[in-house]
Amino acid sequence: MATSSTADVIRIHRHGGPEEMKLESVELAPPGAGQVRLKHTAIGVNFIDVYKRTGLYPSQLPAGLGEEAAGVVEALGEGVTSLKVGDRIVYNGLQGGYASHRNAPAEKMVLIPDYVKDEEAAAVFLKGLTVWMLIFEIRRVQPGETILVWAAAGGVGSILTPWANALGARVIGVVSTPEKAELAKTYGCAETILSSEDVAARVKELTGGRGVPVVYDSVGKASAEASLKSLHPRGWFITFGNASGPVDPVAPLRLSQGGSLVMTRPTLFSFTGTRPELERGAAALWGAMRSGAVKADVRQRFALKDSGEAHRALEGRKTSGATILLP
Ligand code: NDP
Repeated sequence: MATSSTADVIRIHRHGGPEEMKLESVELAPPGAGQVRLKHTAIGVNFIDVYKRTGLYPSQLPAGLGEEAAGVVEALGEGVTSLKVGDRIVYNGLQGGYASHRNAPAEKMVLIPDYVKDEEAAAVFLKGLTVWMLIFEIRRVQPGETILVWAAAGGVGSILTPWANALGARVIGVVSTPEKAELAKTYGCAETILSSEDVAARVKELTGGRGVPVVYDSVGKASAEASLKSLHPRGWFITFGNASGPVDPVAPLRLSQGGSLVMTRPTLFSFTGTRPELERGAAALWGAMRSGAVKADVRQRFALKDSGEAHRALEGRKTSGATILLP
């Protein structure tokens, strides 16, 4: 049990499976200059946490896990004037979020609006900013166009689909099971394709033989070629995740053969690296939540101590919507 000077944290001492995730009690120093001490109320689980656990994205060990949490400011370090004790905040991009309490830089904190609950903030902040990056910053989704979204019933998919709908796009979603197809339709997919089907052939059927202008591919290794084949000339292959493993190298000539295709491999943290960028993305996300275009859909909750179970479910494709941990 955490006290005022300790925190319960999940740490790994080596890369590997969920069994490497250990619940530990650590001493927590008072917040340093520019830092705040946080008490977490809800923690976001994201696929990047799996990559960091396995070592696909290596960490210096021992390491905390988790990039995102919502909570309350409990104490201020020297020089912090942007926040006060009691503020409700959310953050992402700070490894070590799987914790009851932590110290963290005040400049990374974003206030949670009163119309968003803590659980909802932890469910949407990292995933929703990722969607903002995908549909506004990289290439703006256009009204009337048809787009292809992989893992449409997943955490990012549950935000990407309705937000793209709100911009006027028709979404074709790829999912692994009929149950996930039903859920993806409730998120706003006009059509769904099972990943066991010939995805590119189905996309061509559903687009009058033409293909789509943009594919949002978070599956990676298993889906990349089908994504490239689903694009019409000058289409965008936006490959932003590795759920099935990292994408094999794509030769520039493959892009030429597809008809002058554009390929990009974005990472959120290069779109929110400065405070104005972070605030712009957060304002867009909160605006989409206030209007109802985007809703948090927390479909799995685990206790912090059971975070390994959360990883097993996420990696085993057993989850849909968002997953959170409760400290
Ligand atoms: P999801 O909830 O979407 O879970 C991943 C989904 O991927 C699964 O539910 C599953 O859906 C699908 N999938 C396909 N193949 C596999 C496989 N072999 N193993 C496991 N899952 C598979 O996760 P998140 O919402 O957290 O993240 C979605 C993706 O977005 C991830 O790839 C993540 O890395 C990426 N991402 C990238 C960011 C960036 O900055 N580039 C930022 C945030 C997320 P189904 O069963 O329907 O196939």
